[in-house]
Amino acid sequence: MKEEEIQREQAPAAPLQTVVLDGSQGEGGGQILRTSLALSMVTGQPMAIEKIRAGRAKPGLMRQHLACVNAAAAISGATVEGAELGSQSLRFAPGPVRAGEYRFAISGAGSCMLVLQTVLPPLLLAGAASRLHLSGGTHNPMAPSFHFLERAFAPLVRRLGADLRLQLRRHGFYPAGGGEVEADIVPAAGALQPFDLLSRGEALERHAECLAPGIARHVMTRELETLGAAMGWTGEQLRYGATRQNEGPGNALIATLVHAEVTEVFTAFGEKTLSAEQVAHALVKELRSFLKSEAAVGPHLADQLALLLALAAWQSGRGAAFTCSEVTEHTRTNCAVIERFLPVRFAIALARAASTVRVEPA
Ligand code: ATP
Repeated sequence: MKEEEIQREQAPAAPLQTVVLDGSQGEGGGQILRTSLALSMVTGQPMAIEKIRAGRAKPGLMRQHLACVNAAAAISGATVEGAELGSQSLRFAPGPVRAGEYRFAISGAGSCMLVLQTVLPPLLLAGAASRLHLSGGTHNPMAPSFHFLERAFAPLVRRLGADLRLQLRRHGFYPAGGGEVEADIVPAAGALQPFDLLSRGEALERHAECLAPGIARHVMTRELETLGAAMGWTGEQLRYGATRQNEGPGNALIATLVHAEVTEVFTAFGEKTLSAEQVAHALVKELRSFLKSEAAVGPHLADQLALLLALAAWQSGRGAAFTCSEVTEHTRTNCAVIERFLPVRFAIALARAASTVRVEPA
């Protein structure tokens, strides 16, 4: 058992010090809130955030962020102050995390995948398995999509010795939402085990699928053909994804790159103002940027893997490292927030071919 856990069990009356964060620091977005909520629950430390999303056009907690706070409070019995729409400050004091079966719904456009991102770390370390019924957006811009989490992220959770299984019951696109996902979370038998992910390994499979419920079929064809022509992908590599008409309207073009060591998923979203060709070219740009590097993971998987490996480094007392094609301000901010809660240190070495992010117990 870790020293901190022993202290919590033996001396529950001695409150842990509140971690105070400036929500406008670094990238200054909603990720600071979600990572802090997750790690406050993991460590038992209360937290207070000021200036939440202060630099954004609509600052403070939006509906989607509030859903994350409420979900965190539901699994940890937290005492919460400031959980209101538009609030720029929040105090959150968690109790013990309770594994179990939960339903978390976001009405409208919010991503339910970001709710999962908030509650997953504490539930991965809870004493028993949990099942979540999530509803809301499953394929939103600026959020991990269901397919990204299922194919790219969940296998990395399994490499830590825990398990995350996801089932998509219904797609939910911006702005209507209405998607449904079930998530089964099984903690590791002992400490989470860190691992190095320094290369992506041999290319095994590359394909794209287009999801476009409620949208004319020629849009799918043009997106797939444009992507195929730019990447040299043909036939079976270009797929019309299965959706129901009543799941729309929505449009996501998803590329899956399976390598021996890791699977990456990149997604471009259709919008009324974008042509099918523009959607495809946006995805091609992301794919080329990743493929021209030698990195194991792309920018989004990087910030989500940083948290998983930090938890494993903390629990096991062993460090870990991964390479990524880009170190974004988002990743740096996430690492800085993680260091406020966990006794770990990140070291980032930038390089053209692939940058390395290393995390060590402090
Ligand atoms: P804000 O509106 O304040 O910027 P937010 O809560 O909407 O905040 P971010 O802080 O930008 O969002 O965090 C978005 C999260 O979604 C991050 O974890 C990021 O890695 C992830 N993400 C964004 N786009 C993708 C994508 N295409 N694939 C996978 N993950 C993604």
